Amino acid sequence: MSAQKMEFKTEVKQLLDLMIHSLYSHKEIFLRELISNASDAIDKARYEALTDNALLEGSGDWKIRITPDRNTGTLMLSDNGTGMTKEEVIEALGTIAHSGTKEFLKALQQKDVRDNPELIGQFGVGFYSSFMVADKVTVISRKAGMPGSTGVKWESTADGAFTVEDIGKEHKGTDVILHLKDEEKKYLETWEIKNIVRKYSDYIEHPVVMDVEREVDSAIEKGKKVKVTEEETLNSRKAIWLKNKSEISQDEYNEFYRHISHDFADPLKTVHYKAEGTSEFTALLYIPSKAPFNIFYKDFRMGPILYVKRVQIMDHCEDLLPLYLRFVKGVVDSSDLPLNISREILQSNRQVEIIKKSVTKQILDTLNDMKEHEYDTYFNFYSEFGRIVKEGVHFDVARKEQIADLLLFPSTKTEKGTLTTLQKYTDSMKEGQDDIYYITGVSVDEALSSPYLEAFRAKDYEVLIMLDEVDDIIMGGLEYKGKHLKSVTRGDIKLDKTDDSDRKKAEETYGKILEFIKDQLKEEVKDVRMSSRLKDSACCLVGDEGDIDPQMQKIFKAMGQDVPPHKRILEINPLHPVIEAMQVIFNKDNSNPVLGEYARLLYDQAVLLEGSKLKDPAAFAKSVAKLMADNAKRVIAL
Ligand code: ADP
Repeated sequence: MSAQKMEFKTEVKQLLDLMIHSLYSHKEIFLRELISNASDAIDKARYEALTDNALLEGSGDWKIRITPDRNTGTLMLSDNGTGMTKEEVIEALGTIAHSGTKEFLKALQQKDVRDNPELIGQFGVGFYSSFMVADKVTVISRKAGMPGSTGVKWESTADGAFTVEDIGKEHKGTDVILHLKDEEKKYLETWEIKNIVRKYSDYIEHPVVMDVEREVDSAIEKGKKVKVTEEETLNSRKAIWLKNKSEISQDEYNEFYRHISHDFADPLKTVHYKAEGTSEFTALLYIPSKAPFNIFYKDFRMGPILYVKRVQIMDHCEDLLPLYLRFVKGVVDSSDLPLNISREILQSNRQVEIIKKSVTKQILDTLNDMKEHEYDTYFNFYSEFGRIVKEGVHFDVARKEQIADLLLFPSTKTEKGTLTTLQKYTDSMKEGQDDIYYITGVSVDEALSSPYLEAFRAKDYEVLIMLDEVDDIIMGGLEYKGKHLKSVTRGDIKLDKTDDSDRKKAEETYGKILEFIKDQLKEEVKDVRMSSRLKDSACCLVGDEGDIDPQMQKIFKAMGQDVPPHKRILEINPLHPVIEAMQVIFNKDNSNPVLGEYARLLYDQAVLLEGSKLKDPAAFAKSVAKLMADNAKRVIAL
């Protein structure tokens, strides 16, 4: 069969173009990428062979072989892993843009990456990085477990297209053959290859081997040297997580992090420990310094890589971490789990539960430690991941308070740009203050100018400001050290006992006008009452305890969820002169049309103050303009 020519997908074309024309630094990483692919292919074959022995094709002697050939100017990387069918080759090396590719292209759009090309070397750019050093790449592959079937040959010169054709291949696995560019022939040198493998791929579990020529003493002729070629394993193969902490430099930790995370930045924190006792396992975990762009997407894959006695079982084991720590990357290697564990069994496995508990504790303790001793680092962490950690307050009942201690908030008393904690808040609560108060908003400035805060300010109570969309749902139900968190816009807030009697008095004094306003607005609100939270503003809208904030309602609506419209409660400030004025007019002539107009204006103001839209802005504008004209006439008459 002749070769079939196919086009690369646009994103792949873009990537190849960059590889060839723009990237000049750290070209040697192509070898790391190819070794990593070969190692993945072996992991896959070995794992699948646990349940299907035929895949071994008689040999479990896993190996990655590097073969430089000076005569042809080619460098070949071979593995005896899972291999690919023709369809898989077409998908994997031409038509599908991998998440790595997408992230790489995205990273390149960021200025700090463009200005620092050395960062690119830290990025997982995959198979296509071969084209940094080769002008032609040939891949020959045959799927494991199908001896006798034909293999496939893929070839490209990165000119926008590639070819595929059937070809015979005796051994399972994949050969990647790089036809090196003239100026890149140094990658055929033994010492160069050895250095790169040691630098980037030392911890790869499978042997990376190469035939190396050495001079040895001749066995026949004494004193004479002869050349022999021997297979040499170039990597130490020691899994980094199984080494002692004292043997590992931070640079090595970082390199391994970049290898598993495809992140181009260093991690913020590394957590490495061994657990013994009821469960034996080693965990090497990382807290990244930046949130990946897709962390809030559904397809985000969380969880560390799971190994059982150094055999990779799963590349993302989500059962090992709670969802609110989904940003944590790393490796867990267990000695207790069975090798052939399936996803279903994992979910109900006691060992997995023990590991999850331990890992969660370690990460939370690390975060707490960071908060106490390296606040600036923690502040960075919190700006990236605070919103995710916060979910734990809602979902992890047992650790609610511990997680709540990790949260940071601006408040009515923090200085611009600084944040407080619940601990600090409760430490400085005023005499007689029973609850922790918060207000939600879209910005600190907007929240600070809210009329809902007037009475709290007058009493010198601190109010936390919550800016995340999820805050109201999560924080509303929280109890911290025996104190409830209460939204200042909700419920019947009584700031002290005298408030209540003052309010009752006010309701008696203004009873009639209150009834009148209630009647006028019966379609819009469920109640009108005197307020004890207002000091300067005339009125505001509040919810009942348990109602959702208007902001939250908007979010639900935007997500396409129908929320029944909650009628709100209008609170009126009895100290405001407008109420007294309305009462006087009412006593004189309770059918004066001005009263109805004022009631509506009070309501409209309150709607604007809570940040919502008016139903009939034109009517509001008309009323205000009329009031201005009336007032102007009065001023002129004076
Ligand atoms: P990534 O490894 O990040 O998925 P690559 O571009 O390096 O991206 O590789 C693309 C895909 O090609 C891999 O996901 C894998 O399916 C396949 N592949 C690459 N190299 C090999 C190999 N040596 N053996 C089997 N499959 C491979």
